[in-house]
Amino acid sequence: METAMSKPHFVLVPWIGGISHILPMTDIGCLLASHGAPVTIITTPVNSPLVQSRVDRATPHGAGIAVITIPFPATEAGLSEGCERLDLIPSPAMVPGFFRACTEFGEAVARHCRRQDGPRRPSCIIAGMCHTWALGAARELCVPCYVFHGFGAFALLCIEHLFKQRRHEALPSADELVDIPVLPPFEFKVLGKQLPPHFVPSTSMGSGWMQEFREFDMAVDGIVVNSFEELEHGSAALLAASAGKKVLAVGPVSLSHEPILDPRAASDDARRCMAWLDTKEARSVVYVSFGSAGRMPAAQLMQLGMALVSCPWPTLWVINGADTLPGDVKDWLRENTDANGVTHAHRKCLIVRGWAPQVAILDHPAVGGFMTHCGWGSTLESVAAGMPMVTWPFFAEQFINERLIVDVLGIGVSVGVTKPTENVLTAGKLGGVEAKAEIGAGQVKKALARLMDEGEDMRRKAQELKKKARAALEEGGSSYMNLEKLIHSTV
Ligand code: UDP
Repeated sequence: METAMSKPHFVLVPWIGGISHILPMTDIGCLLASHGAPVTIITTPVNSPLVQSRVDRATPHGAGIAVITIPFPATEAGLSEGCERLDLIPSPAMVPGFFRACTEFGEAVARHCRRQDGPRRPSCIIAGMCHTWALGAARELCVPCYVFHGFGAFALLCIEHLFKQRRHEALPSADELVDIPVLPPFEFKVLGKQLPPHFVPSTSMGSGWMQEFREFDMAVDGIVVNSFEELEHGSAALLAASAGKKVLAVGPVSLSHEPILDPRAASDDARRCMAWLDTKEARSVVYVSFGSAGRMPAAQLMQLGMALVSCPWPTLWVINGADTLPGDVKDWLRENTDANGVTHAHRKCLIVRGWAPQVAILDHPAVGGFMTHCGWGSTLESVAAGMPMVTWPFFAEQFINERLIVDVLGIGVSVGVTKPTENVLTAGKLGGVEAKAEIGAGQVKKALARLMDEGEDMRRKAQELKKKARAALEEGGSSYMNLEKLIHSTV
C-alpha cells in the first residue's frame, strides 16, 4: 500500500506579496496532503499564524503539513519591523527594500531546504510568484520547481501572449485598446492602461525585477493554477502549449475547506456578518468587497456608499484599510452608521471595516450577488459558490479577469470602470489617476439592478459552474486528477 512517506514531499513557499497569495497556496498544501503527500509550508513569522490557522482547519489532512517559519530581514532592508507583506508596506519608496529582503529570505529558505535529509528532503518546490531564488534551490536539489502566480489560466495565457507578441508596445497611447486574440471566437480587447504591471513601463519595484520574474517563469518546470479545466475554455492547455510546460489546474482551492464559520475561531466582525445575513431573505443581499489589497479613492468610495445605502437590496459592504480612510469618508461613515456598522438609511447596509469571512458569506443562502474587484481568488470563490458578480476591477490582471467573467462565462455585469486604481507597485506611474469618482452612484445602482433584477440567466450559468467546480475536486475529477499528476510526476 502507498503511504505518505512513499509519496513526494512538497515544499511550498507562498509569495508574501499579499494574503491573497498565502491563502490559496496554503489550500494547495491542504489538497496535496488530502492526497496523502507530505507537505511543508515555509513562511515568515508575521504570516505564519495565517498559514497555521488555515492548516489547523483542514484536519485531518492538516496533520500531514508542517509549517516552518524563517525570519524575514525587514529591518536590515530598511523596513519597519513586521513589514512582511506588500500590503503592510507604508510607502511605495519601500518596495525595493521589500524585494531585497525577499531575496535574503529566499536564500535562507534555500539553505534550510539543503540541510534537510531523509523524508524531510524536498521532492518538489512550489514557489509563489517572485520567489525566483526557488529555481536555483530546486536545481541544486535535482527536484522539479513549479510556480504559483495566484492568477487564472486565462490571465496567464493573455500575459504569455503579450510577452510573445508585444502588441502593447505599438500602442500610440495607454488609452488605446490592445487586441489579445487568445480564445477565438471570443474577442478580447483591453486598454493599455488596464494591462497587468508586467506591461506598465516602470513600477515602484525598481528596474530589472520584471525581467527576472519573466526569466523565472520561462525556466520553471510547470505552473500550478487555482482553477479547474472546465472553467476557462481550454486556457490551461493553450498556456501549456504556448509556454511549453505543464500547467496543472487544481482548484477551486477554497473548496479544500468547509465554508462553515468556526464560531470558536471567528472574529466579532465575522460573527456579526453571519448573524446579520441570517435575518435576510434568500438571495436578497449584495455582498460588496474588493479584496485584501485594493484601496478605492475617497470620492469613489462616497459614490459607492451613496448607491449602497439607497439601493433596494440589503448590502454587506467590506471596507478594506478603514484605518487609513481620509477624514471626510470617516465622517460620512460615522454620520451614516450606528455602533454596529448598520446604516441609518433603511437600515439595509451593514458595513464591515476589517476582514470578513468571504467564503462563508458567499455560501450563505441570503447572498444573491457579489460586487467584486475581480481578484482571481474572489472570482473563483464566487464561481465555487455559484454566485453571479458585478465586476469592478482595480488593477493587476483584474481587467482581464473581468472580460472572462462577463464576456466568456456570462456570469457578471460590468460596472463600467475604465481607469485602474493606483497601488503600492504603480503609485505615481500610471500617469496621474484622478482622485474624482469615475463611476457615479446611479451607474452603480444600474449595474446592481441588472444583476439582482434581471440576472436569472447569469445565476443559472453560475450555478452550473458551481456543480462543475465541485465535481472537479471529487475523485476522478479534473483537478483531482491534476493533483495526482503533480504527485506522480514528482516521484
Ligand atoms: N478575503 C477575505 N475577507 C476579506 C477580504 C478578502 O476572506 O474581508 C479573502 C478572499 O476570500 C480571497 C482573498 O482574501 O481569498 C482576496 O484575494 P483576491 O485574489 O480576490 O484579491 P486580492 O486580495 O489579491 O486583491
